[in-house]
Amino acid sequence: MITSSLLDIEHERALKKAEKDKQDKIYLTGNFDPSLNENFVEVPIEHSISGYKMYLRKETLNAFLKMAEVANNNGIELKIASATRNFDYQKNLWNNKWTGYTLVDGKDLSKSIPDELERFKKILEYSSVPGISRHHWGTEIDINDANPEYFETQKGKDVYEWLTQNAPLFGFCQPYNSKEDSKRTGFNEEKWHWSYLPLAKDFSKRYKELIKDTDINGFLGEEYVPSLNLINDYIFSINPACL
Ligand SMILES: [Zn+2]
Repeated sequence: MITSSLLDIEHERALKKAEKDKQDKIYLTGNFDPSLNENFVEVPIEHSISGYKMYLRKETLNAFLKMAEVANNNGIELKIASATRNFDYQKNLWNNKWTGYTLVDGKDLSKSIPDELERFKKILEYSSVPGISRHHWGTEIDINDANPEYFETQKGKDVYEWLTQNAPLFGFCQPYNSKEDSKRTGFNEEKWHWSYLPLAKDFSKRYKELIKDTDINGFLGEEYVPSLNLINDYIFSINPACL
């Protein structure tokens, strides 16, 4: 009797773990609708510059609002240019660059880079493969303008200087920092992209445990995933301060 009930308990535990792993995989690869997830809230329109509805984890938005208020008192305006982007959103973005529907540096990549592996790498310079974006997690915010040129203007320079000094006090870290400084591979420097570490640290730990190359699929060019070390060279090749 005792043995059999112990086995039942073990069995139930294993089932629960398998179910949790499955749900976590869905979350980490962005295969959900943030507008229907109870942990997410809508970004108030006055803090957004995108013009469409955006969502963040409640904790991320609260930390951002506190930071934006202090910045404002220092004469720095912070607005959210992009927040949570789920798998489907990222897939449209990716596929449109792949087919040439969206031009990259003014070029139709399907014509200018017929070699598909090379095209994959080119799109990767600034766009994440669907399923490996930190934007899936509700912890990432693009601030003010997702273009390098903005951060070359005096206004952009002031914003970035303020963020590098103050964002860590509110839990934010810049994962894609200068590649020369940190000797990392992966995505190019993104001065606009800030990650809310109190949540993102746990998510990246879970990601490392759970997600394999075989979980990254469902978009054009997916057959090239095994020939690139995406998980190590992209998702985990970030500013060490953000790990
Ligand atoms: Zn970003």
